[in-house]
Amino acid sequence: MEPFQLQKPEAAEGPVLLNVKKWTEAYPELTAGFTTRNGGVSSEHFNSLNCALHVHDNEADVIHNRELVAKACGMPFEAWTCGEQVHGSHVHVVTEEERGKGRLNREDAIQNTDSLVTDVTGVLLTSFYADCVPLMFLDPIQRVVGLAHAGWKGTVSNIGAATVHKMQEQFGCRIEHIQAAIGPSIGSCCYEVDERVIGEVRRVLAGDPQAEQVQNDIIRPTTSGHAMLDLRELNRHLLIQAGILATNIECTTLCTGCNIDMFYSHRMEGGTTGRMMSWIGWKKG
Ligand SMILES: [Zn+2]
Repeated sequence: MEPFQLQKPEAAEGPVLLNVKKWTEAYPELTAGFTTRNGGVSSEHFNSLNCALHVHDNEADVIHNRELVAKACGMPFEAWTCGEQVHGSHVHVVTEEERGKGRLNREDAIQNTDSLVTDVTGVLLTSFYADCVPLMFLDPIQRVVGLAHAGWKGTVSNIGAATVHKMQEQFGCRIEHIQAAIGPSIGSCCYEVDERVIGEVRRVLAGDPQAEQVQNDIIRPTTSGHAMLDLRELNRHLLIQAGILATNIECTTLCTGCNIDMFYSHRMEGGTTGRMMSWIGWKKG
């Protein structure tokens, strides 16, 4: 079954959100999910739940949307914490003092990071997407959560594995306790890439005997020098390579490119569009 399920709205109007159903049912004090583009106040091509400040939307509308989403997640807006994403592989450990950074402006965001982890209850980790892959992490034993933004660059620099390793080093998470969820993003149906990207994908898979089998599923050649890339399956494979049990990984079937009534898609909308957000955090009891 699709792991990302529509959250029952509190009212007829309001943000339309997807929850990681298995996780939020198992741990009612956890909130974890992904927004759609619907139920916000942004206008024109940002219509309507744009959550990112860097795309030249009206700032007041973005803040309003963020407040709506935070409320619907059951977290105060003050908990909303984000990084300034750079398509890198740096993982940042969010402390109690950093709670709320970046919620009102980009300058205040945690700089130069695409992955956030924390064990602090009452911090809402957030990051932004229009086709890139959201990787969500949960260790319910050590009560650690993580969130990584994996476009093709982040994926081939193995930001997923870097996040897992940080959870292990910093918080003593045991690999068999770590769960991951791979969220709505561009599917192989809509994502054709060129030789440069294909080369990087082959490089990150090199030396892995298991990769021989999966490589043909992940890269499907089209015209000369091009291929359809399954970025989600590549991330899933890299997480398994990092040691996460396959049975502990939830992977969506929702493609942002196929569903532009529901999601923003950078590729399908010519680059001028809004951003969804992924979020995860422990609510204060
Ligand atoms: Zn598609």
